[in-house]
Amino acid sequence: MKNHQVNLSIRNVSKTYSNGVRALDNVSLDIPAGMYGLLGPNGAGKSTLMRTLVTLQEPDEGSIHLGEIDVLRQQEEVRQTLGYLPQEFGLYPKAKAEDLLDYFAVLKGITNRASRREVVEALLKQTNLWDVRRQKLGGFSGGMKQRFGVAVALLGNPKLMIVDEPTAGLDPAERVRFLNLLSELGENSIVILSTHIVEDVSELCTNMAIINKGKILKEAEPLKAVEELQGMIWRCIVHKSKLPALELEHKVVSTKLLSGRTVVHIYSEEHPGNGFELVSPNLEDVYFTTMAGYNQKQSVQQEREVQL
Ligand code: ADP
Repeated sequence: MKNHQVNLSIRNVSKTYSNGVRALDNVSLDIPAGMYGLLGPNGAGKSTLMRTLVTLQEPDEGSIHLGEIDVLRQQEEVRQTLGYLPQEFGLYPKAKAEDLLDYFAVLKGITNRASRREVVEALLKQTNLWDVRRQKLGGFSGGMKQRFGVAVALLGNPKLMIVDEPTAGLDPAERVRFLNLLSELGENSIVILSTHIVEDVSELCTNMAIINKGKILKEAEPLKAVEELQGMIWRCIVHKSKLPALELEHKVVSTKLLSGRTVVHIYSEEHPGNGFELVSPNLEDVYFTTMAGYNQKQSVQQEREVQL
C-alpha cells in the first residue's frame, strides 16, 4: 500500500523571545514529502522553528498544518506522528541499546510485546546497530548515538521527522553513514534537516530554504538554485593582503585558504576583469550569495557570516 503523502504548510509564523530577539519573522514555507534542508548560520532561528514544529514551544502568530492536522491546536495528534532528533539528547549511559529502544517503544504506545520485538529488531537493523544491541549506550561513539537517536525517532512510523544539526560532532566516516541512513527515510514522509553545513543539504535534500535572522531568504531546489548562478561566480587567487581592496570593488561571496593562498569567489553578472575565471557554481555559492543579498534586484543590507 502506498503511503498517503503529507504536506507541511507553515504560514506567517513569528516568534519574539522575552529578551526582544525576534527569532522568527513572518516565516512561511511549504514542505513536501522527501528530504528538506533548512540551512542557516547559528542563531538564524532554525531550532526555534524546529521546536515549534514539534510542539515544544508556541509561536506568537501564524499557523502550521501537517496534512489535516492543525499543529498548534492538535498537539497530541502531531506528537503521535512525529519523530524528533534534537541537537543533543540525554541518553541513559548504563542502558543497553535494545532495552532502551524497547522502553521508548512502550512510551510510544506499542504495548504488544511481539509487535514491539519486531519493530525494535527492524529499527536496530535499519540503523546498523543490531550487532551492538546488547552494549551499553555509554560506550557508543557519536555516530552510533546519532543512529540510535534515529531509531528512537522512527518509532511509530512518523509522517514528519525533524533532525536538528545532526552531523556537527561526527567524524567524516560516521557522517557519511548517517547521511546515507537519512537518505533512505525521506520517500513517503517529510524529513526536515536543520543545519548550518551546506554539504549536508547539497548531498541529500531535494528542496531547501535558507534562513537568517528569523527570515526566509530563499526557497529552492538545490540543483535549480545552483543552475541559476551559472555564469555569475568568478574565482581568483590572491594574497590575503589584497582582500580588503577586492572586497571594496567586488561582491565577494566567499574566501577560502588553500595551501597558504586565498581563493576568492565573487558574484558578477559581467566579466569582472583580469585575473578572474568563471567557475561552476555550487550550493555554497548559492548560500553565501543569498546571505549577502547579491542575487536580489534590491540589494538588502545583510551581514555575511562566512563559516567555512
Ligand atoms: P539556530 O537554531 O538557527 O542557531 P535559534 O532558534 O536557536 O537559532 O536562535 C534564534 C535566536 O533566538 C538567537 O538569537 C538566539 O540567541 C535566540 N534565542 C533562542 N532561544 C532563546 C530563548 N529561549 N530565549 C531568548 N532568546 C533565544
